[in-house]
Amino acid sequence: MVAVDLGPQSHVPLAPLTTLGVGGAARWFLRAVTLHDIQAAVRWAGDRGVPLTVLGGGSNVVIADEGLEGLVLQVALRGCERRTQGDGLILDAAAGEPWDAVVAASVGYGVAGLECLSGIPGSVGGTPVQNVGAYGQEVSRVITRVTAVDRLTGRVVQFGPGDCAFGYRTSRFKTTDRGRYIVTAVQFGLGGGPAGTSYPDVATWLHDHRRDVPTVADVRDAVLAVRRRKGMVVDAADVDTHSAGSFFVNPVVSAAQRDALDARAAEAGKPLVAHPVEGGFKVPAAWLIQLAGFRPGYRMGQAGLSSKHPLAIINVGGASARAIIGLAAHVKRGVIESSGVWLQAEPEVLGCEGNDEAAFLRQTGE
Ligand code: NAP
Repeated sequence: MVAVDLGPQSHVPLAPLTTLGVGGAARWFLRAVTLHDIQAAVRWAGDRGVPLTVLGGGSNVVIADEGLEGLVLQVALRGCERRTQGDGLILDAAAGEPWDAVVAASVGYGVAGLECLSGIPGSVGGTPVQNVGAYGQEVSRVITRVTAVDRLTGRVVQFGPGDCAFGYRTSRFKTTDRGRYIVTAVQFGLGGGPAGTSYPDVATWLHDHRRDVPTVADVRDAVLAVRRRKGMVVDAADVDTHSAGSFFVNPVVSAAQRDALDARAAEAGKPLVAHPVEGGFKVPAAWLIQLAGFRPGYRMGQAGLSSKHPLAIINVGGASARAIIGLAAHVKRGVIESSGVWLQAEPEVLGCEGNDEAAFLRQTGE
């Protein structure tokens, strides 16, 4: 029997709750709007010994066609409060707030720190998990606190930024403590001047639109325009946006690999821009995908590459999770054959036990 005070629904389709729009149903499903809902859900799943899967904005997941066993918990806590601190602002946002609404609010208040992260789908709770970043900003630089429910104890815990083990598109919530904490709120400390963006696409837009001394609002306009051009702003009418965003993380390669890629770039007439970072050189995954022969708009059944950005795998219409994963594995294999680099999938692949292509996607090549 289902607990009366909790009331999870059964057999709830999950595809409509994701930007990619694939996947089956949740055996049990609860939309949590309070902290109490989350704690009750943890107990409910624990008492029954069933798995609990947390879903946020659904922008970075591929859900198995067979659906998910156990309880799927959609974190839908809302609210965003602000207070001033010195010249800056502290924003306390609940995990279920739509991310771009929080960015837009910060820009409206005229404070800096999130403006380059405009137009990213999903909700606040997912941002510390993968240390969301774009165009030279990362949430780890402005997060002052992460609040979460510890699934082991059911208690509320808080982490300072130094406790989160943030790295490039990663954190403890994605690595050592994967699955342990359910983020309920994130606090951001914002202020200072706008990020002078060094990213060519954004800088060019600002230059072309004569925003010579850009405000945070100018930077937001620029980032939104660039993202739209790449099909990276969710739009129901644009099939290129029916995706989980970039499907692969931009890899860091060694100096020797970078030199080998440079030689290939010269042969292919496709200049490579590799950025020096700790541990090597960051290479655009989109460049590697094109070097392997995949063009924007490439199709394999109902799955395809966006015609605007080959790094996004899209649901052309009626795709299965199997088709999406099949194409991703095909691309990953092509890149390994052409350049020896093992791309890492960025979205979480949920379920898919027994799917060899999904297992291959998780392999690191080490
Ligand atoms: P892009 O702007 O063409 O950049 C491709 C690669 O070049 C990225 O690895 C980027 O580093 C690097 N890069 C470009 N200009 C740079 C500069 N001036 N200094 C240092 N590194 C530079 O890539 P895109 O695929 O269209 O993505 C646009 C932005 O959105 C990128 O910043 C990307 O990382 C970000 N993004 C983030 C997520 C996420 O957080 N989950 C998902 C998708 C895209 P960085 O990756 O360090 O920016």
